[in-house]
Amino acid sequence: MTSRFWTADRKLIRAINRSTVLNIIKSEGPISRTAIVRLSGLSPATVSEITAELIAEGLVYEKAAGDSTGGRPPILLALNQKAAYVVGLKLTEGHISAALTDIEARILCTLTMPVEGGVAVDRLVAALAETVEQIIAKASVPRGQVAGVGIGLAGVIDAERGVCRYSPILGWRDVPLRQKVEERIGIPVHIDNDVNTLAMAEKWFGAGQGVDDFLVVTVGRGVGLGIVVNGQLYRGARGGGGEFGHTVVDPQGPRCDCGKRGCLEAYVADPALLRQAREAASEGRLGKIEAADLTTTRMVELARDGEPVLREIFARAGRTLGTAVANLINLFNPTLIIVSGEGVRSGDLLFGPMQEAVAEHTFDGLGQDTRIVIQDWGDEAWAWGAASLVLQGIYKSPLHIRVPEVRLGAS
Ligand SMILES: [Zn+2]
Repeated sequence: MTSRFWTADRKLIRAINRSTVLNIIKSEGPISRTAIVRLSGLSPATVSEITAELIAEGLVYEKAAGDSTGGRPPILLALNQKAAYVVGLKLTEGHISAALTDIEARILCTLTMPVEGGVAVDRLVAALAETVEQIIAKASVPRGQVAGVGIGLAGVIDAERGVCRYSPILGWRDVPLRQKVEERIGIPVHIDNDVNTLAMAEKWFGAGQGVDDFLVVTVGRGVGLGIVVNGQLYRGARGGGGEFGHTVVDPQGPRCDCGKRGCLEAYVADPALLRQAREAASEGRLGKIEAADLTTTRMVELARDGEPVLREIFARAGRTLGTAVANLINLFNPTLIIVSGEGVRSGDLLFGPMQEAVAEHTFDGLGQDTRIVIQDWGDEAWAWGAASLVLQGIYKSPLHIRVPEVRLGAS
């Protein structure tokens, strides 16, 4: 053993302890040092050293307990919500949604920026940079306190290198998006697949807190999947894991955005539902309703009012989705499935039949392990997910960092 190894180990252990203490203050705070010692199993000296460091960095502050019954009130530690801010951006064709949050992922400000003029890389990079400046100005926070910008987008994303390897919606291949946006704004940028950002947001700040094995299924413009296994996001070899929307239902089925046929997305995503409804309208099966007047929102309204052909379009899509979700349960045996995305707005029209198909097709004995939660949906949710991409860096234990970053024995 050389001293270099020893130093690396000490640094690593210290970083792990720091993450433990910070996460206890995040979830249990305001909390006393004594209670942190009890919950963490660390020594009082270590806790006092780490909390001093967190206070010096401005991440944590001391506050006196209010309900003292005489004598000196105990000093409690709490997260300083104003320590830093982050911006989350969701990039799609046509617009950018943005959210600015505090360090506990609470949304302070949102913004939607329409983007006209196509999907050229430079055009969208400029629009992303402009959106960051606008939301910082709108929220009136000091620019220097914005710790990072997270960007979520659909497709195969190499988060480590910051490269969009393939986006069928934008038609991009191998775009170094992180570097391009960073050069423009001078603030650290992180990018990831949009569904992955949502899965990590649920894990750190949402319904997935404390759940080690869960899936996030998104339905809307596309169909996506975020996979959390043993408390960690599963990405696959190069960021391509979880392309649930392009699992094949029928090789002879309808054409998908990806160029292949019969993908799940081509049956249950918004464009597929709209296509079926417009076909029905042009064939006169929807009475006086014209194909040109139909939108996704209008479809939901008409189906809620009882339009039988539209109700059956949702129900059929729901059954197809449910069969696919049952396959996921059979593969992963997850504790929890969080269903999210714009498609949540269709409610029971889609998810009633989905739940029935899940019950029917799940392998005996597995279904009862899985709780399915249909998440409330707001337009800011994707941007919130992207913001969490930056925030998790503050709380994450180095134990979760991939081995190459430790580089033991490197000279
Ligand atoms: Zn496809």
